[in-house]
Amino acid sequence: MAKRDYYEVLGVAKNASDDELKKAYRKLAMKHHPDRNPDSKESEEKFKEAKEAYEMLSDEQKRGAYDRFGHAGVDPNGGAGGMGGAGFADAFGDIFGEIFGGAGRRGGGAQVYRGADLKYTLDISLEQAANGFDTEIRVPSWESCDVCHGTGAKPGTHAKTCHTCDGSGAVRMQQGFFSVQQTCPTCHGTGKEIAEPCVACDGVGRTRKNKTLQVKIPAGIDDGMRIRSSGNGEPGVNGGPPGDLYVEIHLKPHGIFQRDGEDLHCELTIPFTTAALGGELEVPTLSGRGEITIPEGTQTGKTFRLRGKGIRGLRASYPGDLYCHISVETPVRLTDEQKKILRQFETSLSQGGEKHSPKSESWTDRVKSFFS
Ligand SMILES: [Zn+2]
Ligand SMILES: [Zn+2]
Repeated sequence: MAKRDYYEVLGVAKNASDDELKKAYRKLAMKHHPDRNPDSKESEEKFKEAKEAYEMLSDEQKRGAYDRFGHAGVDPNGGAGGMGGAGFADAFGDIFGEIFGGAGRRGGGAQVYRGADLKYTLDISLEQAANGFDTEIRVPSWESCDVCHGTGAKPGTHAKTCHTCDGSGAVRMQQGFFSVQQTCPTCHGTGKEIAEPCVACDGVGRTRKNKTLQVKIPAGIDDGMRIRSSGNGEPGVNGGPPGDLYVEIHLKPHGIFQRDGEDLHCELTIPFTTAALGGELEVPTLSGRGEITIPEGTQTGKTFRLRGKGIRGLRASYPGDLYCHISVETPVRLTDEQKKILRQFETSLSQGGEKHSPKSESWTDRVKSFFS
């Protein structure tokens, strides 16, 4: 599963202080706490995500490992952290990795791992989703250390072949039935031992920087869809291929329209006089103004459809429709004069019997049969 960058999760800069981390985490934890959002799966996930990010970044050692290795450097389930224990892959990761091709070997050298996938959440407006747009996002990236040129050894010194694993990056251990292959605890799978590590990168050979990526958001994209940016995830280990970056679309709520796939819905409030007398009404659409004809005697709940005024989906040839749901407004704060006119109007209605009130008529019938 692709993971979001911890700094992005908390919404803080890479050089954020402990105080800033704590503040950002508190804010998110308050907002997404399960007690406050008892039935929201999304909040529950956001809460867990923020908790994990804070636990990792508030621990100096783990934060350091994360800055250098990314998610591969810290294992939230293991607790030990990448540099402390077998962070890159646990014993099972090694076995299954070899079977399923997640990890490979290079000519008897150190173990090779593909970098982790990263997730980036992009909030966009309904208009942006409907029309598509180009944008730039800042994502974490890692660069070869320019002090040691990626070797991890202090300039003038050299890395030696690891004495524990003889450069293979892995050791075999007997666990009951199985002979389990584990990442070498001395070199953490690199196959090399560095006597004097480079001070700039702590012997890792790379440093973390952010980079800007151009992303093209296609017209018609919807909430929850993901765009894959190949090779822009975390770098691989020991020359393994990088992971991918997934940009996940999050649609911001719109002031007027609710989206349902390719269709749009909006509530249209009309005066009770327009509802009774009928009239032309101007309605908002994503492509400008539209018009609908309200017939005489329109009731609350009536729906008008504007064909083709919805959204054209990613692979659709025609746009969806816009549904306007009518809600009739009761006038408030009437003057004495207005009340007088309405009472006169009411009297004239009652002279016509129930023919003016189609809903009351059927309502009265239903109440009658309920009591009988
Ligand atoms: Zn270095
Ligand atoms: Zn080793």
